[in-house]
Amino acid sequence: MPFSVTTPIYYVNSDPHLGHAYTTVAADVLARHHRQRGEDVFFLTGTDEHGAKVARAAEEAGLTPKEFCDRVSARFRDLVAKLNATNDYFIRTTDPEHEARVQDFLVRLRDAGHLYEDTYAGLYCTGCEQFYAEGDLEQPGNICPLHKTPVEWLEEENTFFRLSAFTGPLLELYDRDPEYVVPRTRYNEARSQIEAGLNDLSVSRASVSWGVPLPWKPEQTIYVWVDALLNYHTALEYGTGTDVSATFWPSTHLLGKDILRLHCVLWPALLVAAGYEPPRKLFVHGYLTSGDQKMSKSLGNVIDPLQVIADLGADALRFYVLREVQFGQDGSVTRDGLDRRYEGELANDLGNLVSRTTAMIARYRDGRVPEGETALEPVHERVAERIDALDLTGALEEIWTLVRAANRYVEDAAPWALARSDDPADAEKLDTALYTLADAVRALGVLLHGYIPEASERILAAVGDPGATGWERAGLGLTVAGTAVEQPPPLFPRLAAAGA
Ligand SMILES: [Zn+2]
Repeated sequence: MPFSVTTPIYYVNSDPHLGHAYTTVAADVLARHHRQRGEDVFFLTGTDEHGAKVARAAEEAGLTPKEFCDRVSARFRDLVAKLNATNDYFIRTTDPEHEARVQDFLVRLRDAGHLYEDTYAGLYCTGCEQFYAEGDLEQPGNICPLHKTPVEWLEEENTFFRLSAFTGPLLELYDRDPEYVVPRTRYNEARSQIEAGLNDLSVSRASVSWGVPLPWKPEQTIYVWVDALLNYHTALEYGTGTDVSATFWPSTHLLGKDILRLHCVLWPALLVAAGYEPPRKLFVHGYLTSGDQKMSKSLGNVIDPLQVIADLGADALRFYVLREVQFGQDGSVTRDGLDRRYEGELANDLGNLVSRTTAMIARYRDGRVPEGETALEPVHERVAERIDALDLTGALEEIWTLVRAANRYVEDAAPWALARSDDPADAEKLDTALYTLADAVRALGVLLHGYIPEASERILAAVGDPGATGWERAGLGLTVAGTAVEQPPPLFPRLAAAGA
């Protein structure tokens, strides 16, 4: 079955940070895993580039909005590449192909009778590009809770989407699939928002000029969030030069909890209204914080993803964010914690296992895997189950049970002692031990491909199975006796040696 996965498109009013890297890595783990299983995969990420905030940031930078977007979007594209993400397309909402399709979509909504004109009046924060109810503002003075600035009274003739008419269809969708939104707490949150009743939504803006013009009233622009959400479908229509939406829609969306309502309520309603299938599944992940504080430049506790990649490589960052915090929940990350896991788990547990195994085979068996049967239990079925449940942290823990089992096995089997013995029975035990270890290392190369692709590639090359990442190779006992093994340079150099 084809599989398609998206990150939210990243808003270019700020530079890339760890949160962007986090979602990108998670989506890439899923994309790589499904490719390993032989499925057709489409992995989409990109940048969200319209709206008043971007126009203002461009003005401050002395650039036109488009120049500004080109500059910042390139930084996101650079981060995605440095993370070794295997996205099939990088969409920009300023792509003319996207803009034209957004306009078509609005026409479709209008023709289906889901739009109407009305006056909108209310308290508006230009920073948020959002109207606020008085009760949601800080008093006195109607202060935006996010921007800490007073909101303005704004009145304009807008185009509205009859979101209120979709309460029933959305509830049906949620009832049909109790795992439509994951984790369960987020499902409940979204469902109760729908149950509480939905208000119609203004989908055009007279006050915002940097956006996609409303086709029948070009002096207004389309609400930036409608424009942004549509990327998930438009990219499939033009991103690769042919329309692959029939194959890859509906997609699985990964998103942060701050944009839950837009993705879990508005987006499926828009799609259903226009006659499209709603998204397949929505996974809402938590925030990475720093020692229980939100990460911020002013607090000086920011983990800069590009710095980590420069110091320790992309694998270290990819591994740490999914290992440290249960995917789906909030959790604390620190550079110290990252260094500890790098040293303890990547350099020691995994790196040592690979280097000991290959060194012993070189020394005791002339660099060839001896005949044998594995003495360890495979984990690949449980790993695949966890990944199918989008439990990326649980899947990694399952993989690590094999790493730990192999390390215990080395100590118990003590190949170095067997190698000193003249007893032929010990020679056979040594064959079994070395086979078991080589085979476990090979399987780990397959299992870890999604998480730490650079190390995976080097592991598989070291055990004579280069490029053999197919999931059918993720079990144990599949190594062919006689395969030539080479001892690689350290997979994860020690921190002092890495210069960090
Ligand atoms: Zn605001």
